[in-house]
Amino acid sequence: HREWHLLSRPVGWPEPENFALVEAPVPTPGEGQVLVRNRYVSVDPYMRGRMSAAKSYVAPYELGKVMQGGAVGEVVASHAEGLSVGDHVLHFFGWREYAAVDAANAVKVDPQAAPLSTYLGVLGMTGLTAYAGLLRTAAFKEGDAVFVSGAAGAVGSQVGQIAKLKGASRVVGSAGSDEKVRLLVEEYGFDAAFNYKAGPVSEQLRTAAPDGIDVYFDNVGGDHLEAAIGSLNRGGRIAVCGMISVYNNTEPAPGPRNLARLIQTRGRIEGFLVGDHYDLQPQFVQEVGPWVASGALKYGETVVEGIENNLEAFLGVLRGDNTGKMLVKL
Ligand code: NDP
Repeated sequence: HREWHLLSRPVGWPEPENFALVEAPVPTPGEGQVLVRNRYVSVDPYMRGRMSAAKSYVAPYELGKVMQGGAVGEVVASHAEGLSVGDHVLHFFGWREYAAVDAANAVKVDPQAAPLSTYLGVLGMTGLTAYAGLLRTAAFKEGDAVFVSGAAGAVGSQVGQIAKLKGASRVVGSAGSDEKVRLLVEEYGFDAAFNYKAGPVSEQLRTAAPDGIDVYFDNVGGDHLEAAIGSLNRGGRIAVCGMISVYNNTEPAPGPRNLARLIQTRGRIEGFLVGDHYDLQPQFVQEVGPWVASGALKYGETVVEGIENNLEAFLGVLRGDNTGKMLVKL
């Protein structure tokens, strides 16, 4: 059994020497626990925050200890009522091959109903993030023009498609390569998309959304946020989901220079955390599940094989190697 430990806290971009893949005994499940052989392990941008010591909404990873994250796996031993060998569960002990998990912290999932990997992505945490952030925080309504950054990623690709399925007047996405831009328009049905590396975001957004935007779903921060404020229509809403462009900064990034536009537009900027919106989970699965099953909502996955590549997969998310949800398959 192998597991990933954090050895030291990265400053700026994480480096391989901050981490170690450690051999350890397979954990022994106690009373009320199951032993899970992980099959898919999630890597997510928020993990960068947990590698730092700064206090946040989740505790920092402890030095010299195994890291955590979403995972789905198969129960291979059970000392818990209600879970049997052969069941599949979603839990929070990723970055490792085997985990002893309290039954109370394991959610049974059905690999017949949907592929196992989707419980970490399109039907899982990132899917609910898109759904809650767009519909609740940004208060999306039919006819809105929507802009989403990180649009070819797990959350962003779902935001754009949900907006489209719910009657957006225009959906615009930004992403970091021409190939991703092509995917957004040709496969995911975005009305327009642009490569943010190809020119100033504000100019590209004005061209892509000449009548302005009513909703901005922010995954990136920085120049994207400033551009969105610049294109915001009266009564516009900005849901701040993430700011991946600043996660590896060593100094705080300057804020948008055009906040005064919020007065004129009566605009609103609001951050949210998916953890506060699990009351929407049943509604989310009920509405989005059939879209996924029918193909009305498409999803991508970038799957890296092997626990030894877990760190590389995580670094890949920060670099933009992924299209859709980045996962490690064990
Ligand atoms: P993604 O699948 O979107 O992967 C991250 C993507 O970010 C990369 O693929 C890359 O794509 C893009 N990126 C990296 N660096 C930059 C940069 N400097 N500028 C612009 N884009 C960049 O990840 P998720 O869908 O899991 O997460 C998306 C965002 O949502 C993140 O900010 C994350 O922190 C946040 N989040 C927030 C939650 C909440 O509860 N608030 C819950 C889940 C996620 P590209 O090639 O386009 O650059």
